[in-house]
Amino acid sequence: MVFMSKKIEKIRAQFPILKQLINEKPLIYLDNAATTQKPKRVIEAITNYYTTSNAAVYRGVHTLSERATALYENARTTVREFINAKHHEEIIFVRGTTEAINLVAQSYGKNFKANDEIIITALEHHSNIVPWQMIAEKIKAKLQVVALTDDHAIDLNHYKKLLNERTKIVAITHVSNVLGNVLPVKEMINLAHQLNIPVLVDGAQAIAHLPIDVQDLDCDFYVFSGHKMYAPDGIGVFYGKTKLLEKMPPYQGGGGMIKTVNFTKTTYADLPQKFEAGTPNVSGAIGLMAAIEFLKEIGTQIFTHEENLTNYAKQKLAEINELRIIGMQPALSVISFTLGKIHPHDVGTILNSEGIAIRAGHHCAMPLMEYLGLAATTRASFAAYNTEAEVDLLIAGIKKVLTIFKKKKF
Ligand code: PMP
Repeated sequence: MVFMSKKIEKIRAQFPILKQLINEKPLIYLDNAATTQKPKRVIEAITNYYTTSNAAVYRGVHTLSERATALYENARTTVREFINAKHHEEIIFVRGTTEAINLVAQSYGKNFKANDEIIITALEHHSNIVPWQMIAEKIKAKLQVVALTDDHAIDLNHYKKLLNERTKIVAITHVSNVLGNVLPVKEMINLAHQLNIPVLVDGAQAIAHLPIDVQDLDCDFYVFSGHKMYAPDGIGVFYGKTKLLEKMPPYQGGGGMIKTVNFTKTTYADLPQKFEAGTPNVSGAIGLMAAIEFLKEIGTQIFTHEENLTNYAKQKLAEINELRIIGMQPALSVISFTLGKIHPHDVGTILNSEGIAIRAGHHCAMPLMEYLGLAATTRASFAAYNTEAEVDLLIAGIKKVLTIFKKKKF
């Protein structure tokens, strides 16, 4: 534990933003499921790129362009190794999870026909609902939603019943950004594959908190955002198995994704460029590479720290009578709760006055909120740099919220 806290101290020292005061209190950043803070090496990698190597990739014959291209492709290799993808061209850079899911829905979904079915779960983020709804509406396909059990796990029996010959794709989150549950994705993939149905896994909430091996999962698509794994905004990853990517039409047209163009016919570039139309986010990819190096350096034992921290927070929160933790499954780095009848926005505002950043609202999962019979929750979410001392201050902050509202005779 002492070793661990020294380690956490070293990690914290790499995040300049954490050193500031908010409302004259040390910042306690517990909104990591919305976005994580960035370590110095990520910020420096971007500055360094713009200071020494900025150029358009691929097209130039000059040194800077060659340098930028090499860095961009190194970033792709770093991502490939990080998620253990088999081939370099299976890693496509996109803006983030949302863009990747839209890409699959629009491109892979081109083959869907009326009455085909798309399976998602009741736990999904809007970005793994709306793109499927859009394609389903257009072609009169059907969105099927896997229910939850009474204790908020995925109802695997319901899932098995939903899988059938009309199912064209299964799209599921790996970890819920609201409840923190880890879904049994490997089992769900295996069940879908028995009927030759491909599976997309939304890894946005998993990628910074679990080791990910796409070959071991055997998922067909795995998508995630850089900003939730210590990397910059506007960069994310779309992983797909080569054999599927080769068959899929491009999602967007433009420069960079072509082999030849004339006014009657365009031929497309090979993978991965086929899916990277326009000037790519090179600095973002370089920032993502630095974030992966950061994650590799801190090592997977940090995941145990986050698990312990989540359990510690759950235990401390459960001691507050008025507080109800939402979600009955073991949670990873995310805890949602309600506090009596106090609106989560009020909880968030008072906590902010104590320097504590949490999230209040529906967390881009309105259907899940409806399912749970709630309008909103307060959510605390953890990252590698959070500590037990910060959880203690969160608890003190929540007690302050209760005191204020008791005085108001709420
Ligand atoms: N899925 C999940 C589970 C998420 O947590 C998020 C981000 N909160 C997204 C999808 C969407 O990610 P982005 O907004 O970066 O595209």
